[in-house]
Amino acid sequence: MEDKKINSNFSLFGLPEKVVHCKKCLMHNQKPYSINESKHTIEKLKDNLKFDEEGVCEACRYSEKKKTIDYSGREKLLLKMLDKYRKDNGEYDCIVSGGGGKDSMSVSHMLKYKYGMHPLTITYSPLLYTDVGWRNMQNWINKGGFDNYLFTPNGKVASILAREALENLYFPLQPFKFGIKSYAMKMAMRLKIDLVMYGEDGTEYGSNNIEQADSPSYDITHYTNDNKDVYIAGRPLKYLLDKHKLEMNDFYPYMPIRSEEVEGSNLRVEHLAWYIKWDPQSAYYYASKNCGFESDVERTDGTYGKYASIDDKFESLHYYTQYIKFMIGRTRFDASQEIRNGHIDKEEAIALAKKYEGEVPKRYLKDCLDFMGLTEKEFVDITDQFRSPHLWKKDKDKWIPIQELSEISNKI
Ligand SMILES: [Zn+2]
Repeated sequence: MEDKKINSNFSLFGLPEKVVHCKKCLMHNQKPYSINESKHTIEKLKDNLKFDEEGVCEACRYSEKKKTIDYSGREKLLLKMLDKYRKDNGEYDCIVSGGGGKDSMSVSHMLKYKYGMHPLTITYSPLLYTDVGWRNMQNWINKGGFDNYLFTPNGKVASILAREALENLYFPLQPFKFGIKSYAMKMAMRLKIDLVMYGEDGTEYGSNNIEQADSPSYDITHYTNDNKDVYIAGRPLKYLLDKHKLEMNDFYPYMPIRSEEVEGSNLRVEHLAWYIKWDPQSAYYYASKNCGFESDVERTDGTYGKYASIDDKFESLHYYTQYIKFMIGRTRFDASQEIRNGHIDKEEAIALAKKYEGEVPKRYLKDCLDFMGLTEKEFVDITDQFRSPHLWKKDKDKWIPIQELSEISNKI
């Protein structure tokens, strides 16, 4: 790591003090990799998106590498792997985790109708379903044609944890992330279904390091934790138990899997997108055609798109928090991915970022704040505590992003 010292007067959360922008996309080096949530504390230093000597980010390099992959060879590997798990005795032979987004729809549909598998779909409920998200959940089951288990964690506890995660980590979506990163594996072991399939790996977006992309398997360290101390919302369990008068059972959905549980099972967790040619736009078309996926009627707050991550009201708030903490908002994220997939060029991406990057997510903000029991004023105060001095400066009443590309920050 080039820069790992914490200088809390200047750069919060151990972020690199100098922002380095990718030469090809809009991403920069403040993007941290995804980590195991039960080990996530505000002090924990994370690895960030890496750049090569030509100033190009890992996500762009990975995308170039993908263009040279022999997918017919990989599909043969997929068939071979699926054959090991396939059951023709009426039982389920794999689990697809998701909530009716374009990716889970596409993965489950391809597995069942193209590759002849028998998936059970499992949903860990979003914190607050949007109307279109709930319709898509129904479309997935009714039009796509799948059996589904929907697990909804205790909303009272989830709201406490979302607020704690906002106040302590500025990461209100974290309670849901616990579920999406481990619930399918917990259910797989309980139901004795040995294969869990996800869609994409985070490397596409700079959320995982590039070594992860060399393997179709999901890294066990993302969903197991053998540490004695477990953190939720960045707080030790005992702190939350005492402060909110909760019981251990209230944390059941958030407790990590121990590695010995996995080692004693035949569990295998894979990404379908490693085996076949995949990009988000194609997944959208596939899900619309085969499972009745509906895009949103309005543009998503903070970006220009209408079809990605639209099932949870907290998603727009989540991207906004990323913008405040890391100066990476949703437009930057979406447009960078679209540059890599050849749908737009950098100039168009900059124009979009100039328009939408960092937009306050008004549409669902009040619903999210009500869920967490916060006023807008309290939210603004919490927000300002998470603006790192190397990314933001205050000019009278206005926060100005610094180290931003001048073409984007000119909007101020
Ligand atoms: Zn890049």
